[in-house]
Amino acid sequence: SLPTPEAHLSAVLETVERRSQAEPEFQQAVREVLETLEPVLEEHPEYIEGGILERLVEPERQILFRVPWVDDSGKVQVNRGYRVQFNSALGPFKGGLRFHPSVNLSVVKFLGFEQIFKNALTSQRIGGGKGGSDFNPAGKSDAEVMRFCQAFMSELVHYIGEHTDVPAGDIGVGSREIGYLFGQYRRMTNRYEAGVLTGKGKGWGGAEVRTEATGYGAVFFAEEMLQRVGESVAGRRAAISGSGNVAIYAIEKVQQLGGRAVTASDSGGYIVDEGGIDVELLKQIKEVERGRISEYADRKPGSHFVANGSVWDVRAEIAIPCATQNELGADGARSLLKNGVRAVTEGANMPTTPEAVELFQEAGVLFAPGKAANAGGVATSALEMSQNAARSRWDFDKSENRLHEIMRDVHDMTFAASERYGKPGDYVLGANSAGFVTVAQAMLEQGII
Ligand code: GLU
Repeated sequence: SLPTPEAHLSAVLETVERRSQAEPEFQQAVREVLETLEPVLEEHPEYIEGGILERLVEPERQILFRVPWVDDSGKVQVNRGYRVQFNSALGPFKGGLRFHPSVNLSVVKFLGFEQIFKNALTSQRIGGGKGGSDFNPAGKSDAEVMRFCQAFMSELVHYIGEHTDVPAGDIGVGSREIGYLFGQYRRMTNRYEAGVLTGKGKGWGGAEVRTEATGYGAVFFAEEMLQRVGESVAGRRAAISGSGNVAIYAIEKVQQLGGRAVTASDSGGYIVDEGGIDVELLKQIKEVERGRISEYADRKPGSHFVANGSVWDVRAEIAIPCATQNELGADGARSLLKNGVRAVTEGANMPTTPEAVELFQEAGVLFAPGKAANAGGVATSALEMSQNAARSRWDFDKSENRLHEIMRDVHDMTFAASERYGKPGDYVLGANSAGFVTVAQAMLEQGII
């Protein structure tokens, strides 16, 4: 006879904990999903019988590789490269590459695991994967970044392909890096396989709105949540962390919808601009000059820079963490709650700690997990793959409208699942259950593989 859902879930979690003792982020991400699935398994005992969860928590394949390259002084450098091909039940593995010194197997696995459910929620038929390297792009010359990307692709080339695995950007990987990676792929394969990477330059296969998509999508999601309860982004203050493409375009969309985004940050501190962030200045500093966020305060009268402290101490009704994992903890949550926060939308992946999520949910704050709220980036990557396959190109408006529709659907599906499984408005339950059922059903129908 079958174990109860509760017993089954704790057995799966125990296996993960035993196998992944040195992988705290991965354990955190798995626990967060499994904790919500009991009502789903009550309804679907066939997922227990089919061993869906045991299979889902184990990547189909993980690749670790050496990345040797020569720096500008002639010294040989060696980094570690990763690609975790987590689940391909819905389509080719899909997910970004992160270049940051904090990258390790635990981080890549947590990101790959979340990507499975996020990608399922987009309804775009893409599987889940993630990769990257502990390479630190900070302070590297353009030539060094190029040589690193070429070395990275020299090995990754063996494992990817437009029907197999389609990487894109993440922290430290933007259109410059995707360009160098694509160039090396093309050279090594002698194929113009445009759909093998997404986030390409717009002149050679990249989709309109891909750069903006994650940030825009996170704000579209916030707007959907707020409108459902009769509120809106318009007239509201937003605190946003980070200053990469997710943060920049979340700020831009908040202002376009009539809200006021008042903060941005990087590892050196944060800025506050009570009049609303000047997006063009922010883009100039971060995208063109690749500078520090503190320079914003030097150049914009009326704004100021805070070197120590937390962006979550700034008063705001909407909070959009767009920097990195576990950046918004219990202290940040308490401070936001004290200042009257109404909605929290994750632009980054797993930026809110489990303690902080609980505090928001207990206080009745609308909370959108990254799996749903930041799905606009990867959804637009899937649109890029479609355009590449059809050898077509959509304009900006069509692309943004499609993104907007997808985010509405992600919201509605997530909300419907939260109702169905007994906690209307619990978007964590909604995202996990809706994403899980989509993948589980495909795995069941495709047999034990
Ligand atoms: N890195 C992004 C994410 O976390 C996008 C991945 C992609 O476009 O494949 O979803």
